[in-house]
Amino acid sequence: MAAAERPSGLYLDGAWRSGNRRLAVLDKYSLEPVAEVAEATPADVLAAVDGACRAAAEPPPPGERARVLRAVADALEAEGERVVADYVAETGFTLADARGELARAARIYRLSAEEAVRIAGEQVPISAPGGERRLAFTFRVPVGVVVAITPFNAPLSTVAHKIGPALAAGNAVVLKPAEKTPLSAVHAVRAFHEAGLPAGLLQLVCGTGEDLGEALVGDPRVRFYTFTGSTAVGRRISARAGLARTQLELGSNSASIVAADADVERVAALVARAGYRKAGQVCTSVQRLLVDRSRLGDLAEATRERVQTLVAGDPRDPASSLGPLIDPAEAERAAAWVAQARPSARLALGGERDKALLTPALLVDPDPGSRVLDEEIFAPVVSLVPVDDVDHAIRLVNEGPYGLQAGIFTHDLDLAFRAARRLRVGGVMINDTSSYHADEMPYGGVKESGHGQEGPKYAVHDMTDPRLVVLNL
Ligand code: NAD
Repeated sequence: MAAAERPSGLYLDGAWRSGNRRLAVLDKYSLEPVAEVAEATPADVLAAVDGACRAAAEPPPPGERARVLRAVADALEAEGERVVADYVAETGFTLADARGELARAARIYRLSAEEAVRIAGEQVPISAPGGERRLAFTFRVPVGVVVAITPFNAPLSTVAHKIGPALAAGNAVVLKPAEKTPLSAVHAVRAFHEAGLPAGLLQLVCGTGEDLGEALVGDPRVRFYTFTGSTAVGRRISARAGLARTQLELGSNSASIVAADADVERVAALVARAGYRKAGQVCTSVQRLLVDRSRLGDLAEATRERVQTLVAGDPRDPASSLGPLIDPAEAERAAAWVAQARPSARLALGGERDKALLTPALLVDPDPGSRVLDEEIFAPVVSLVPVDDVDHAIRLVNEGPYGLQAGIFTHDLDLAFRAARRLRVGGVMINDTSSYHADEMPYGGVKESGHGQEGPKYAVHDMTDPRLVVLNL
């Protein structure tokens, strides 16, 4: 979109403001500036919360909320390639990733619209003495003001997972997108503006967490923080949130287990996508494949063949399977972790850096204790780790700090369900990788991967409170 047509990025009380500061947005492949947005100040954040409080007092009725959410989905689809162009520039993700995420965002807004008109309480039968003379029921009310803070790696769908349910529930939202990828959020907010969302219900402030974090988190008028990002920042938000509720979708070094009876070709085909899509910058990306020792050689060979065909390059070139990492410093960090693990690995492929590009890397049996295994790599790097059996793999997952999603490949129902019961994670995918995600699912982690659930049905519920009414007849 030409700069003149792009809204400023500071949206307060239904109007785009010019603001006093500018935030440059870089093209993540060329590393050249492609756009600017207005950078909010802590005073703007305060004004955003003030306006949200006023708007939250009079939420529109559910049918109207649903209409707006559906209109936003339609508008994003109609804008299509203009949104995709900004998304590819600001993220460095491929055109296919961009189109896929745009379609997902539209679905999330439509799912949220469906939930808006389903919010309902329940009758509460009272059997305590005197209960026969009482009629008790609940209805659900919005929590009030929600602050949504989002990461760089899914700037359309994560924003949709935050603001879709929050608005469907009847709340007012202050959105702060990742400073590296604000343009996708600007498109989403513009769609709400054009759909006629009443002023103040959605406020947009762009800027760094360092600058705006204190103003955003800790204001007692904010009743709910919905955050997706790193575990380190999640911990800081949790410490400042006070008594407000939080939904924290944090980091992971996700694992998928490959049992002795698994179909190795199928695993390799899925991993070649799920470990490298978006250059591995996906919280459920396959980082570790815990493979029964008897199948390690076969799987290493099948995966190597496929990974060798992946091309890291210009995300606008259809021949590229993946683009750059979010910045050269991140690529440098990931390359250093690969270099550290390489000497101990039986097989090592890729991991060479050119500015922010990193060639897809595969490591077979790196030393336990390597950073590529123990920490979240957030890069196109997959490690195969031999295990004695499925129980050994479950132990490795459970001993680690994270617990987002896991996969298990086996045709043995007993093994599959043992893993589903014993793995301490938010979701277990059977005959699929840790990366499978459909937007109607309850989605969230445990342990250092956070708490609370995305998925419009679950998030709408969490973003409302039950109001109990008891009638003494
Ligand atoms: P990040 O934690 O650096 O930043 C996320 C957001 O928090 C940004 O908007 C940032 O400006 C803001 N922020 C930073 N410091 C803050 C502070 N002190 N107070 C308030 N806000 C602050 O994460 P990132 O690098 O943008 O994203 C990558 C991380 O996100 C990875 O760890 C990844 O696993 C995680 N992630 C998790 C999920 C999930 O569903 N669990 C999904 C996507 C990404």
